[in-house]
Amino acid sequence: MRTQESYFKALDDGRNVFYKGQRVQNIVTHEVLSVPVLHAAQLYELKEKEQLFRYHDPSLGEISGFFRIPNDSEALWYRSKIIQESTRRAGGVFNIIQAIGSDAIFASLLVGKQLAMGGKTEFLKRVTDYLSKVAREDLALAVAQTDVKGDRSKRPHEQPDPDLYVRVVEERKDGIVVRGAKAHTTQAAVADEIIFIPSRAMTEADSDYSLAFALPANAKGLKMIVRPMIEIEGFPSRDDAPNASNHAELETLTILDDVFVPWERVFLYRDPKMAGQLANLFALYHRFTALSYRTAMADMYVGLARLAAKYNGIDDVPHIRDDIVDVIMYREVMYMAARTAAVECLKVADMALPNPLYTNVGKLYSNAHFHDVVRDVIDVAGGLVSTLPSTLDYYNQETHEYLEKYLRGSGQFSGEDRFKLMRLVREMVGGPVTGYMLGGMIHAEGSMAASKIAMYREYDFKRSEELVSKVAGVKYPSHIDRTS
Ligand SMILES: Cc1cc2nc3c(=O)[nH]c(=O)nc-3n(C[C@H](O)[C@H](O)[C@H](O)COP(=O)(O)OP(=O)(O)OC[C@H]3O[C@@H](n4cnc5c(N)ncnc54)[C@H](O)[C@@H]3O)c2cc1C
Repeated sequence: MRTQESYFKALDDGRNVFYKGQRVQNIVTHEVLSVPVLHAAQLYELKEKEQLFRYHDPSLGEISGFFRIPNDSEALWYRSKIIQESTRRAGGVFNIIQAIGSDAIFASLLVGKQLAMGGKTEFLKRVTDYLSKVAREDLALAVAQTDVKGDRSKRPHEQPDPDLYVRVVEERKDGIVVRGAKAHTTQAAVADEIIFIPSRAMTEADSDYSLAFALPANAKGLKMIVRPMIEIEGFPSRDDAPNASNHAELETLTILDDVFVPWERVFLYRDPKMAGQLANLFALYHRFTALSYRTAMADMYVGLARLAAKYNGIDDVPHIRDDIVDVIMYREVMYMAARTAAVECLKVADMALPNPLYTNVGKLYSNAHFHDVVRDVIDVAGGLVSTLPSTLDYYNQETHEYLEKYLRGSGQFSGEDRFKLMRLVREMVGGPVTGYMLGGMIHAEGSMAASKIAMYREYDFKRSEELVSKVAGVKYPSHIDRTS
């Protein structure tokens, strides 16, 4: 299996990464961007040390557990467990580097299988070969789905600038040339490969935009402009962000400036019908991933709320218990949604799909209630979440004794421990990283409207409608369906 060193070496490949007005020479040694590199690399360490993260594939041998194709409930739950566990090991920060890429590959496999049934076999072969390659080489992957989109009310072909959704601009004998930009591509600048997939359903007129393909991160013409999560915490005072200064990801605006893609890396081509399917299937796998990492992320918030209550001497107070129960609810609803989505999975073409209803229920709950979790922890912890002095002041000889004495909280704990705990609380609910989280918990893995549309479209209303029709003594209106 791949080592951390070989991953670091691979990142020094001349990729076009821009940050704060400069081209980054080597991302591995960069003062700020090395944090997302090390965060991603933790996965290689986990795999080296722990069997849980490795899977024996009958034809590929020992591979990363993330590349195990889910073919039943057990395999889906295994996937959830390794996502949860890798998140927990990183202080509640999701490690996306093989999770999102495998979500996209599984969705592409299903689309490839469907195309193969219709006689177009080349796409399935390409995706299968690509999965074998990334699993054998144990690659780090990013997925660029979200187009920059321009005017949201217009379809790709209706935009005044035709490049606002990624499109094919030239077809050659050996491949295609693509142009456009994708927004918010998590960890793209520290990935080996980036997979591009459509972000929405397409019409016939959007044929040029109905594509999926993969590129190495150093492909000619591929440019990435980075916004890292850690920088927002006031880098370089890393001490005030003890969690995110060790575990943070980065986002990129990913620009395709006429990039060549060889045919063997094209997974969908000018196929508007399948573009929407691929977008939806990816969203489903990826929301299941979201439930899994958010369960582990929520462990952090349960711990923060409970320990802050203890350190403040209020863990028996009724309204504080209510706050903590709220946070427990958040964690457990997500856990239950992930578990039920795995247990009640759907079987399609030898693969297991997370149950769409339970996946979207959990995803929507986590979107709608993350802000409540933040409010609850703030309520428990008090105003220090906004006003806590810095670590440099805490350890400054001239001010240390005052901070030790006056910020002590409940007498049974040391002043230093309470300071450290409050520093983490501030980072998670009151510091600038919180701003990143508030946005991420609403939009990452798709906006709330997207989940609601998917849930409403697929919900089985028949049971309830029949029941009410029977109780009311009215005719069941099966012939009237205004939702389809
Ligand atoms: C931290 C973070 C990490 C992310 N990581 C990734 C990643 O790795 N890869 C990736 O591809 N994407 C990623 N995303 C992108 C994420 O999926 C999008 O942010 C999300 O889908 C919303 O898209 P948007 O940001 O363009 O916002 P918009 O689409 O502009 O959404 C803003 C509002 O407009 C509404 N809206 C948009 N279009 C329409 C319409 N046609 N009709 C009606 N309402 C509309 C939305 O529902 C929403 O309420 C990430 C996002 C975040 C915040």
